[in-house]
Amino acid sequence: MKYFIETYGCQMNVHDSERMAGLLESSGYEPAAGDADADLVVINTCSVREKAEEKLHSRLGHIKGMGRATGHFPVVAVAGCVAQQEGSRLLERSNVIDLVVGTQRLKMLPMLAAQARVQRQQDVSTATRALAAIVDVSTPYDEPSFPLGLARHADAVKAYVTIIEGCNDYCAFCVVPYTRGHERMRAKAEILADVRAAVESGRREVQLLGQIVNHYQAPDDPHCDFAGLLEAVNNVAGVQRIRFASPHPRHASARLIAAVRDLPAVCKHIHLPVQSGSTPVLQRMRRRHTREHYLDLVAKIRADIPNIQLSTDIIIGFPGESEAEYQETLSLVDAVRFSCIFSFKYSVRPNTLASKKMPDDVVADDKTRRIREIQLLQRRIQLELHEAMVGHRVEVLVDARSQRRDWEVSGRTTGNTVVNFPGHADWVGRFVEVAIRRAGPYSLWGEVV
Ligand code: SF4
Repeated sequence: MKYFIETYGCQMNVHDSERMAGLLESSGYEPAAGDADADLVVINTCSVREKAEEKLHSRLGHIKGMGRATGHFPVVAVAGCVAQQEGSRLLERSNVIDLVVGTQRLKMLPMLAAQARVQRQQDVSTATRALAAIVDVSTPYDEPSFPLGLARHADAVKAYVTIIEGCNDYCAFCVVPYTRGHERMRAKAEILADVRAAVESGRREVQLLGQIVNHYQAPDDPHCDFAGLLEAVNNVAGVQRIRFASPHPRHASARLIAAVRDLPAVCKHIHLPVQSGSTPVLQRMRRRHTREHYLDLVAKIRADIPNIQLSTDIIIGFPGESEAEYQETLSLVDAVRFSCIFSFKYSVRPNTLASKKMPDDVVADDKTRRIREIQLLQRRIQLELHEAMVGHRVEVLVDARSQRRDWEVSGRTTGNTVVNFPGHADWVGRFVEVAIRRAGPYSLWGEVV
């Protein structure tokens, strides 16, 4: 039996796919190259943006077309946040889907896939197919752990390690508390065991994942907060780089800043979601930080860690965003000079506070113009930051060979900037020193010294 997993969305979803791959392989499945030779296709969905959800339906249409053209009909599982949110409605809308696996039920996937194969031979109702896999995330479900060593790390260089599942913040635009449930911390001992297993399997970099990583408090060690966890991971022999996503500005303590500054394995890059540069918009978003607090925090981080790179997430056109409020976001981007931003046009997400109480009233043309302006400004800033690196030498962890040129590889600096340079595929996983020769807005080019 062969499986194929397609993943949309965030690093958390990428890691969930690694976990499902590990479970399926331990149940006897082998990876397939694509749908055409897979017995089981898993679509791991994201519902943070409307567009990500649309992808699921176009993907299902593609699988249906393949079945009609070739007679090959793999078992189809929908996993992830859309699965959790939509549940049985998905099965009513598409007869291509055999099973729906909610975010809290990944461990059931091999069993549900086996059931689905049996169901194929029987006349099973849509409702029966739906029910097994969905759990009500509003009820406590305190099982964030996952069998140690079972995740199949797709990346040869880095390993994702979940430290927190779920979120209690209920930002007005966000589906996460509804799809991943309330916040649950993993035990420190379990996280460190995962980190050691990742290092033993050859991974150089560990990425700690959680909806609000810096809210971490170890359930098995009352003295260990997120800064303490960073220190413990830093002390695991063989860990050479540590990244984390994502911290919340309101929990960014002096201890955390000092940990990033002082711990040698912790990369000098912080992804610090701001979402808007306008305090009234942030209040409507229920973000619990202000423009002033964010700018103060950036100043403190930069004073303590001069070589730090900061990136962020921005939502454009949140309900009620006036032209003046949008200009505040533009000016914040201009002032902070992020190394990278992820900007999105606001779209209504089911169940969220904004969907119930705030009309999506920023006209589409204004959202489009504003996001274009922000992205153009950011492109100019990135180009300037990158041009300032030309002539300098940087340490790069090689993480991939080029898709387009077989004599080229790429990697990342500690600040998370992508650098391309001539090299061999067997350099993947090595640290090299690269002299930067050329800069573009999205990456750098250089030569190994
Ligand atoms: S902090 Fe806000 S944006 Fe982040 S996951 Fe929680 S609710 Fe969503």
